[in-house]
Amino acid sequence: MIGKIVKASSNGYAVRLNGVDYSCTARGKLKLTKYGLIVGDTVEFDNGVIKRVFERKNQLVRPRVSNIDSVIIVVAPTPKPDYYLIDKVLISAENLNIEAIIVINKSELDKKIVNEINQYKSVCKVVSVSAKTGEGLEELKSLIQDRTVVFAGQSAVGKTSLVNALFGVDLKVGELSEKIERGKHTTTYSQIFEKDGVCVIDSPGFAMIDVEVDMNALSSLYLEYKELAVNCKFRGCTHTDEPECAVKLAVENGKLSKERYGRYVEIYNEIKNRRKDYDKN
Ligand code: GDP
Ligand code: ZN
Repeated sequence: MIGKIVKASSNGYAVRLNGVDYSCTARGKLKLTKYGLIVGDTVEFDNGVIKRVFERKNQLVRPRVSNIDSVIIVVAPTPKPDYYLIDKVLISAENLNIEAIIVINKSELDKKIVNEINQYKSVCKVVSVSAKTGEGLEELKSLIQDRTVVFAGQSAVGKTSLVNALFGVDLKVGELSEKIERGKHTTTYSQIFEKDGVCVIDSPGFAMIDVEVDMNALSSLYLEYKELAVNCKFRGCTHTDEPECAVKLAVENGKLSKERYGRYVEIYNEIKNRRKDYDKN
């Protein structure tokens, strides 16, 4: 039988097939494969024993889960968006071949932010919603139908409220951040719940902000830069110090966001300096 691991703990695994959860243990050597078995894995099992794990489409380090289709980056008018966080999650998602969707929650409060965030429409899907009024929830649901998704975003943007409003579940407001504090000391486990045809990773302290990409690969993870790069004078242009750079030109002409470009250069330098430190040691 072939199913999906929806829960992992020191006692074993729950493997779901056709809506039924089977309690399983794993063959010893499977636990020794890279990162062991993790939530999201597709596995072959028989009589309560997992015998084989199928190749992963992708996997996150934090939380340790696999086979994600979409990451939903939740932002809101309050707290103010952290644009570095948004850009870094977008970079990681593109790097891992995960679709990103930006969801503007609490959109009933302020429309100014909607215009600001809409600049990302050239990079990914953007939807305005309100967990409070229900606006936009059906549209969001249709975008994630039949997918395995994970919610990312700053504390208090409304991730918990949104999941509750979307799926009629009852995660406690504030629960996510509480778990983050606790996560420092104890092991907390991710799990998947399935509702209305969507698999949601319910995970403590989710943040996919560790950018582990090579500085030369960074520009290829900016979709709008990738398109323009064919017009740069130099092949492999990093769009930083090179002359006759099509990306820099587009920024100067106001065709690309100056702010996002500024953050790109900072992230590029961050990776470069990390590399230098690494070379020194
Ligand atoms: P999380 O930390 O991202 O999980 O955020 P929570 O779901 O705990 O929500 C943080 C706060 O924002 C709570 O006080 C919610 O009641 C509030 N909130 C969530 N969604 C909305 C919304 O759509 N509109 C408004 N006005 N407040 C919201
Ligand atoms: Zn360039």
